[in-house]
This record gives sequence, C-alpha cells and structure tokens, in this order.
Amino acid sequence: MSRTARTVQTAQDTRAAAEWDYDRLVDIAGRHGTPVHVLDAGRLDRAARELLAALDSLSRPTRVYYSVKTNYLPYLCRRLAGHGMGADVVSGYELDAALAAGFRPEATVFNGPVKTEEELAAAVRHGVRVNIDGEQEIETLERLAAAAGRTIEVGIRISPGLPLSTSSDPSYRTLAERAARRNRFGWPAGSAQLAGLVERIAACPHLSLTAVHAHLSSQIVHQDLMAAALEPILREAAALHRTFGLREVNIGGGFGVPGIRRPRTGPLTALWGMQGGTPLPDEEPVMDVAGLLTGVDKRLGELGLADVALACEPGRWLVSDAMALVTRVMSRKELPDARWLILDGGNNVAPWTGSGEVHRMVPLGRSYAPASAAWSVAGPLCYENDIHAASVELPEDMRVGDLLCLHDTGAYSLGRSNNFIRTRAAVVAVDGDREELVWRAETGADVFRLADPGARPSESP
Ligand SMILES: *Cc1c(COP(=O)(O)O)cnc(C)c1O
Repeated sequence: MSRTARTVQTAQDTRAAAEWDYDRLVDIAGRHGTPVHVLDAGRLDRAARELLAALDSLSRPTRVYYSVKTNYLPYLCRRLAGHGMGADVVSGYELDAALAAGFRPEATVFNGPVKTEEELAAAVRHGVRVNIDGEQEIETLERLAAAAGRTIEVGIRISPGLPLSTSSDPSYRTLAERAARRNRFGWPAGSAQLAGLVERIAACPHLSLTAVHAHLSSQIVHQDLMAAALEPILREAAALHRTFGLREVNIGGGFGVPGIRRPRTGPLTALWGMQGGTPLPDEEPVMDVAGLLTGVDKRLGELGLADVALACEPGRWLVSDAMALVTRVMSRKELPDARWLILDGGNNVAPWTGSGEVHRMVPLGRSYAPASAAWSVAGPLCYENDIHAASVELPEDMRVGDLLCLHDTGAYSLGRSNNFIRTRAAVVAVDGDREELVWRAETGADVFRLADPGARPSESP
C-alpha cells in the first residue's frame, strides 16, 4: 500500500515558539555535539507555577503528583519537588528515584497495573499511598499492613470506558470507543467487578479506602471529552464517599499540550487515501487545564464531595515544552518520489518516531531561503518507522550539516529512549545564565557494561 504524502500541520504553540534562545541552542550543539537534549529550567518553573496557581484558586484542598515516568531526569525531578509537589510512581525504581529527588513520601502515590510484593512493601515502609489496580494487591497490602501493625490508606483506580480523542473519520471513532471499553487500567465505574473489589477492601481490617484514582490517557486535547469521561468517575466517588468518607479524588494526568500532533485517522481514511483522496487533518484544540480543574472542582461540590481534596498527576503538561532536541541533518536524499532529510537523532532519542506523532521542527544556525518545500524527515536508524514526519514544510534549501530543533520533547523522551543501533543523548540544563550537563551521552561501553559478569548487580527496590 502506498503511503499518501500529506503535509502535517503541527499546531503552533506561540508560547513555545517565541521564547527559546536559538543562538544558545546552536552554541550548545557546537560544544556538546548532536543530538542533544536541552532543558530550560525557567520554562519548567513557569509551568509548575502556572499549575499550582490554578489549583490554589479552587475551593478545596488540592494535591499534585508529578508523573515520574514522564521524565525521570534527577535534575528535573529535584526542581519539581522544590515546588512542593509530590510524585506519582509506577515502579520500585521510580519510587527510589522520586524519594532521592526530594519528593516527600507522604505526598507520593504508587500507581500501575503491576506492583511486586517488594514494591508494595517499600510503599508501606515509606508511607506512600497505593492506588490499587490489581486484585492481588488487596491481600498483599492487608498482610503487609497487619505485619507492620498499622492501618494504611489505599485508593482504587476506576476507568470511565469512554474515549478521550475524536476524529472526523468515523472508523477512528469506532476503534477509539472499543479500546476505551476494553481499557485494562482500573475497573469500570458502576461495574460489578469494581463493587466486588471495594467490598474486599472494606473487609480488610488494616486497609482504609480513602481515595479514588483515575488516569484516562495521555495528550488529551479535547476538554469536553475529558470532562465527560470524568463524570462517571466523580459519580462513583460520590457514592463511595457516602460509605467510606473519601479524602481525595485523583483525576490523573494526560493534559494535552500544543505543538505535538498525533495521527487521528482510522482505516476509512487509509482506504480513501488509496483511492487518491487527501483528507484534511482535524483541528487540534488546546486544552485549558485551569478551566478543566475549575469545572471538576465545581462538579465535586455539586455531587456532595465538598470537603474532599482534588488531586491530579500531570506529566507531559509540566515538562513537555521545557525540553528541545537539537539534531543535525546528516543526509539529504532526492528520490524520484520523495525528498528526505535524514537526521542524527531518531527513535533512540525521540521514541515517538514510529507512532506518527509529529513535533514542531525549527531549522537553526543560519538564514534559510524564504521558500519552503515539503520534506520527509527521518532518523538515522535502520528501522522502517524511524520517521519524524512523512511530509512537513521546511525551507527549500535545507542541506547536510544544518541543525534542526525538535520542540516539545520533555515528555517521554529520556525515559523511553533506547540504544537500538545508536546510543542515548546527553541532556544539558540551562537556568538563566547557568548551564550544566545533567545527563551525559551514553557510550557503547555503557551499553555493554551489562555483559560484564564482574559488574556490580543492580540494587533491588
Ligand atoms: C503516565 C501517567 C501519568 C502522566 O500522564 P501524562 O500524559 O504525562 O500527563 C499520570 N498518572 C498515571 C497513573 C500515569 O500512568
């Protein structure tokens, strides 16, 4: 099947576009080499302050748990912990990293569909609340709490069964609705399974159900869909509150950011493409997080949850625009049917290649021709889907050696990067005039250290 060459318009993020100091990025690329991640601590602080201010304006106590999996860079975690927020962790090693970065254990939650006995024991030991997302966790936690001679608070994860994204392509919508109903995280609001698990928790003398947890998806840009999906969660919370007296309703993260575009088309669009059709990409709305939180705050009050804290677990929204990835054009290939730019950074450092997600790209380092052309942009890996964009408008005179900056790369880049074919890149943090290498580039020797039988075994959580 031939791929329809279609120009993807990346959403323009004026806040992100205007304020990066590109001369500085060029300078850093010159001294540290490419590809290189640059973290701007000022941008991170700004996002943190904006979120905390939005929460402060609400009518109830609020809590923020930063999603450590979104970016586990210690420098970044320390910075966010410094704003007083807690952490959301989904594994034992993330818990260790979160506590080492200064997130307070009593302001931290342990989530995720799999938690080993060792991980649950660590959570109990540190006083980190567990949001239950597996049946076996109930009995294990009861046993651990009894052994510690304590009653511990737990939450339970609930899912709405409703889609969080939409498209003008009805086949996409059908698939999204089916996937939402089959979602394996949490238990559906109103279901017999959820009621059964709540009963089992209630029967445990050392467990106290004090929180409802939901996390719906990532990069949610449709605020109305998010509000609609939260409604059954909030209703379930209201019912549980009458029996258990909840302390917290946690709506999770997933707040979408501008500047990133995900493909939202289904098989129908693909068929149409095969017939020569060129569908226009759907408009991407921009999520108004303060507006969403205000709406949830109000709804909680209406449902009789006036005294219950509202918690959220943003990852991407806090960190996405604080990082940029500077890459270099290594090859320019003109084929009869395509014009490729091949960069030195691909799926190894930009793990969203392969998924069709497109980030804003800005050429740096010289003045470019005003005329633009449709380019296909790829990473360097011998892997078919290592593609940054099937078709994107960039200056016509792009050439080998040019720097290309990929924006909004703070989320799911470092932690998901890998050493398939090429090693992982360094992170340089800038903070006002200061600059610091906060994560060095991986070497081949780093990769093969694991094959050394004399190497120190890694520590368990
Ligand atoms: C990944 C995750 C988050 C953060 O999601 P973002 O899309 O980065 O905001 C929050 N909560 C849980 C449970 C998660 O797994």
